[in-house]
Amino acid sequence: MTQTYAIGIDVGGTALKCGLVDIDGEIIYSFLMPSNDAFTEGEVIALINAAIRKCANHAPGPIVGVGIGFPGIVENGVILGGADNLPGFTNFNLKNSIYSSTGLEVIINNDANMMAWGETMYGAGKGCSDVVFLTVGTGIGGSLVINNQLYGGFRNRGTEMGHMIIKHDGIKCNCGSIGCLEAYASVTALVENYAKLTNQDPATVNGKLITKKYLEHEVEAVQVMQSHFDYLATGVISLINIFSPQKVIIGGGISASGSFYIEEIKKRVYKKVMTDTISNTEIVAAALENNAGLLGCAGLVFQNLSYLNQLQKHEA
Ligand SMILES: [Zn+2]
Repeated sequence: MTQTYAIGIDVGGTALKCGLVDIDGEIIYSFLMPSNDAFTEGEVIALINAAIRKCANHAPGPIVGVGIGFPGIVENGVILGGADNLPGFTNFNLKNSIYSSTGLEVIINNDANMMAWGETMYGAGKGCSDVVFLTVGTGIGGSLVINNQLYGGFRNRGTEMGHMIIKHDGIKCNCGSIGCLEAYASVTALVENYAKLTNQDPATVNGKLITKKYLEHEVEAVQVMQSHFDYLATGVISLINIFSPQKVIIGGGISASGSFYIEEIKKRVYKKVMTDTISNTEIVAAALENNAGLLGCAGLVFQNLSYLNQLQKHEA
């Protein structure tokens, strides 16, 4: 059988991560395309088209489609808006636009969902059908794979795991609500807590520094990290009790700071989670780092293709 390839384009606020991937998840060719000079919707689209052409020129075999990860809400190939740092894209049918310019099959989903799919198909969740994915960074992103499918709720508007409320009268969250997991367990919250405790300017502190100090047993760093673990574990417990996934995959730079990170979360989760809901669940760190989105974009193209093939066989 001829090897086939998919193109993945992970659109971020400052760059497009682009690549050509084979069905086994091998990245054949990849590059970053800076997007900070794209000031209009049209310029961003031109960049995406150029990236697709560049990938296609490097393909040693047939290309089965393009997967695009885009920030904000994506419903059926339409970007509804809410994409920070990207101009325009309000109710814009990106799928049709890219299909008409390239003639390739196009699949578009939210960027965090693409990361989750990448980890499920090729990374820490390989072989699993049910996965909860969390990224801990400036905010907390979440995605869900149920029965081998990305699940985003009705019209792909849900799975905002970072905005699960863990304290009904808690602190203010960026989403406008109060007491959200993100407001307590994001790296932003960690940095703010540490800066306050040590009388420093938050701009001079970052997650890396705090985990380094934590490993050196600095009292303040230990205190804020303990509370970070407590809050994050609280969210994870609820997610396991609700979804009972095979894996909870935790990504984001901080989750790669050492095996202690996942161990501390696990310890706390086991104390409070329901025994039955966690009986088949493993809590693990993400494995694909910055390539998760790109691999998810390509992987979703392959998954969709095999689904269509099955459907055709069934109908034949
Ligand atoms: Zn919130």
